[in-house]
Amino acid sequence: MKIGFIGLGNMGGPMAANLAKAGHEVTGFDMADVNIEGVSIAKTGAEAANGADVVITMLPNGQILRSVANEIIPVMPKGAALVDCSTVDVDSAKAVAQQAEDAGLQSVDAPVSGGIGGAAGGTLTFMAGGSAEAFAKADPLFDIMGQKAVHCGEAGAGQSAKICNNMILGVTMIATCEAFALADKLGLDRQKMFDVVSTSSGYSWTMNAYCPAPGVGPQSPSDNDYQPGFAAELMLKDLRLSQQAATSADADTPMGEMASNLYAQFVENEDGLGMDFSAMLPRFEKRGRG
Ligand code: NAD
Repeated sequence: MKIGFIGLGNMGGPMAANLAKAGHEVTGFDMADVNIEGVSIAKTGAEAANGADVVITMLPNGQILRSVANEIIPVMPKGAALVDCSTVDVDSAKAVAQQAEDAGLQSVDAPVSGGIGGAAGGTLTFMAGGSAEAFAKADPLFDIMGQKAVHCGEAGAGQSAKICNNMILGVTMIATCEAFALADKLGLDRQKMFDVVSTSSGYSWTMNAYCPAPGVGPQSPSDNDYQPGFAAELMLKDLRLSQQAATSADADTPMGEMASNLYAQFVENEDGLGMDFSAMLPRFEKRGRG
């Protein structure tokens, strides 16, 4: 396939490289100067999208996605597919999908989970929204870049699934960290706490697979001075998207709102910027109730 790939950063770069390695003809574009193995670099987004069967975008946010869509949709051949893998707000995902449909294109919103390691290893999970036909066109590419793709529903459904998942993740990480900090103050050994909770009803992915306590559980960013991993500011971005969606859908999400506010405080007013999102544990550890 002839593939255009726009946004060749930490995630997009290795994803595009994997598509090229699998034998696809990939032309990429990024605002920054980049060099990706096997990928020809175009001078503009429109040049990368021109004549492509599929254009994949992997960009920072919905506003940038909308502006890139304005540039590339007019040059894409009718019947081609626009596949956005960025994490963006549901409204932007739906607006871009509509714009693509009006121009005779197919589109899929397909945000990912799995992080930079998953992008490099080709083991991402894609959660996709769009027509069955559009999903079928993108699915072989998801197979190369990832290990699993779930077709969640119509346009916007992929982004909806992603932010609901990450709202659970943010809330659960905070709950796990505050429970460890309480256990510390009660004089409980952290390893014992892990041994009990990881096999009891308080277990979760954040406890069992990504334990925020250094030296406890499987290897995780806490064992590497809380270097990300999944940065606290990216968690904040996703929690804010969840609250934006909740406002727009009139959904009551008090825990999501509290998690969003806590990560905002951590990233913007404390020392969370650049730290892994599990660094909430040392944050709670230093604090009392007051
Ligand atoms: P990144 O900042 O490394 O990459 C984004 C790239 O987009 C940059 O290289 C930037 O130069 C480029 N860009 C910005 N504006 C552009 C434009 N107008 N035209 C062309 N290129 C432009 O970010 P990332 O970590 O690769 O994340 C990309 C997306 O994936 C985000 O939406 C993020 O939320 C999501 N995501 C990231 C992770 C992760 O662990 N990093 C995990 C899951 C999802």
